Amino acid sequence: NRQFRLAARPVGLPKATDWQLTEETAAPPKDGEARVRVLYLSLDPAMRGWMNEGKSYIRPVAIGEVMRAGGVGVVEASNSPHVAVGDYLAGMFGVQQYWTAPVDAKAAAAMKIDPALAPLPAWLNVLGMPGMTAYFGLTDIGQPKAGETVVVSAAAGAVGMTVGQVAKQLGCRVVGIAGGPDKCRYVVEELGFDGCIDYKAGSVAAGLKEHCPQGVDVYFDNVGGDILDAVLARINLKARIIICGAISQYNNTAPVRGPANYLALLVNRARMEGMVVFDYAARYPEAVQRLGAWLQAGSVKSREHVVDGFEHFPDALTMLFEGKNFGKLVLKVADA
Ligand code: NDP
Repeated sequence: NRQFRLAARPVGLPKATDWQLTEETAAPPKDGEARVRVLYLSLDPAMRGWMNEGKSYIRPVAIGEVMRAGGVGVVEASNSPHVAVGDYLAGMFGVQQYWTAPVDAKAAAAMKIDPALAPLPAWLNVLGMPGMTAYFGLTDIGQPKAGETVVVSAAAGAVGMTVGQVAKQLGCRVVGIAGGPDKCRYVVEELGFDGCIDYKAGSVAAGLKEHCPQGVDVYFDNVGGDILDAVLARINLKARIIICGAISQYNNTAPVRGPANYLALLVNRARMEGMVVFDYAARYPEAVQRLGAWLQAGSVKSREHVVDGFEHFPDALTMLFEGKNFGKLVLKVADA
């Protein structure tokens, strides 16, 4: 069982020496436990935060500990009455090839997934944590109404693609912000967004003026920084801003910069609200059912960027912070 453990707390972008690759024999499952062979791992921007010391919504990964990661895998041995050999599970398996742990009736540690509903990687995307984030962040915090204008950043990424597609299903006008012509073309032509602003090609402020002539009612913020400021300058009365993430700030070595334009919230009686997907765990089945139905109908698409090979974990993770992933970034660990 090969494992990537955290060797050092990174300064700036994580580097090879922040990781230690170790190997041990995969443990046989004890009473109540199952052993899962990990097939795909989810690589997430949040991992960067988990590597830092300090208080957050979840405890930091300790030095020497197997890196935390979500994944999907297949049960290989089971002493749990709740799962059988051959079942597919999604859970927080960590960056390792095998996961052995108790699986209880509530499936708190790992939930059964149905590969007939969608391919395994999609269970880390639209039907997984990013999809849950998009669905609950948009509907619960954003509360979009038909006809309103929704803007989403990192629009071609895992969370962003589902935010935009769900907003379209709800009858909104949707404008993405993404890096590069290919990603922008994709969200408009393949995913049905109404427009997309290439923040690497020109001014976001000018793009918002052009694509959001009626202003912005909901902004789903994945990036923070200058893009957040540009959107704040265009918000409407009673606008809702979902603080989902701020990837432009995660590798800062200086303190995170807050929005300079925050008085736009005052002027427009608007609000910004943070959300953490784990708070919605009890309601995941509701979102899986709705998103799954859209996926099967073809009205919502799931795109994954698969990097093949467990050993590529350290390099693959940094792709997120350089915009090198096109779709949800997934590491393939083994063949199904
Ligand atoms: P993505 O698949 O969107 O990948 C990250 C993307 O971010 C990159 O492809 C890149 O796209 C963009 N990006 C990277 N650096 C910058 C930058 N400096 N400025 C602007 N854009 C940048 O990742 P996810 O969908 O998994 O995550 C998106 C956001 O959602 C993150 O902030 C993440 O932390 C957050 N999140 C929050 C959760 C919660 O519970 N609150 C749960 C899950 C995710 P491009 O090429 O367009 O620049």
